[in-house]
Amino acid sequence: MLIDNHNRKINYLRLAVTDRCNLRCNYCMPSEGIDFAKNDKLFTIEELVKLSEIVVSQGIDKIRITGGEPFVRKDLMVLLRRLAVLDGLDDISITTNATLIGPYITELKELGITNINVSLDAITKETFNKITRRDTYDTVYSNLIKLISEGFNVRINFIALDGQNTEDIIPILELMKHYNVSIRFLEEMPFNGGSKEFSTIKWDYKSIFNHIKTAFPEIEKLESPATSTSINYKIKGHKSTFGLIPSFSRTFCGSCNRLRISATGDIITCLYAKPSDNLRAILREGNSDDAVKEQILKAVGSRAKTGFEAQKKYDGVFSNSMTSIGG
Ligand code: SAM
Repeated sequence: MLIDNHNRKINYLRLAVTDRCNLRCNYCMPSEGIDFAKNDKLFTIEELVKLSEIVVSQGIDKIRITGGEPFVRKDLMVLLRRLAVLDGLDDISITTNATLIGPYITELKELGITNINVSLDAITKETFNKITRRDTYDTVYSNLIKLISEGFNVRINFIALDGQNTEDIIPILELMKHYNVSIRFLEEMPFNGGSKEFSTIKWDYKSIFNHIKTAFPEIEKLESPATSTSINYKIKGHKSTFGLIPSFSRTFCGSCNRLRISATGDIITCLYAKPSDNLRAILREGNSDDAVKEQILKAVGSRAKTGFEAQKKYDGVFSNSMTSIGG
């Protein structure tokens, strides 16, 4: 079992399978993209399987596949088929922009991979196009509805962006009210790859809540698992629920159970921390599984207590892009 130096149990890995993305969300990266990793710097599917086997043997029982956009990898399903039969791995989830997932929905269901987070920051096409700098709203929306209708456990990730999409907060709750889905509003974080100035946020989880409360006064707070990053609610009369994720306010660090491995192999123990080590070379140099395990233990054993503590130690943190970190 992985226990960090603050006695937190780590059982959840966010595994980025690529840093590339077919969208160019302005809060994530500049319009020209970032300096994407060369293919040989990315893990192969065999390496991703090996890595997953190793972390599962260390007590990880949930892996979220992320990126970049995971489905830009043509071989993604090969990985998912292998993970679906990995003993000890109880939960495989995916975070996606839902532009490319359409052809894979049936097989995902067959594999039992039903926890899908869909990033959708607007329901107005024009706003969506401005934020993502691409014109894929119709595809995303139709895949989202398909996933919900097929019975997937879908959560929508909506980043509250001052001056860009907050006018869609109430309408998206209205639009989704008959669907079995959770809409999670996230605070914007500084990881935009230099795309824009970032100092602080106006739309923190409290102002998002107050905004929602004005339109829907009857809100009930829901029980959430101890390690949940979202504070969850239900609006009276709505089938859907909504959540608030204080990703910039960082109120949930005390129960953080996550580890991240970037597409190029960096071990990241906190979004706001400098990567601890790189696993790609260790894995490629033909080292034993124990050498990989040791690096992971080392990283987990020297974790910052909070995102604020991590940020203090790492000057360069604000120049990162979420497409390299994996979200
Ligand atoms: N391409 C996939 C997607 O769109 O969901 C997975 C990768 S994406 C980097 C993962 C998540 O990070 C998305 O929900 C995205 O909205 C979020 N994200 C990216 N940049 C962010 C930022 N600066 N602040 C907050 N969330 C961010």
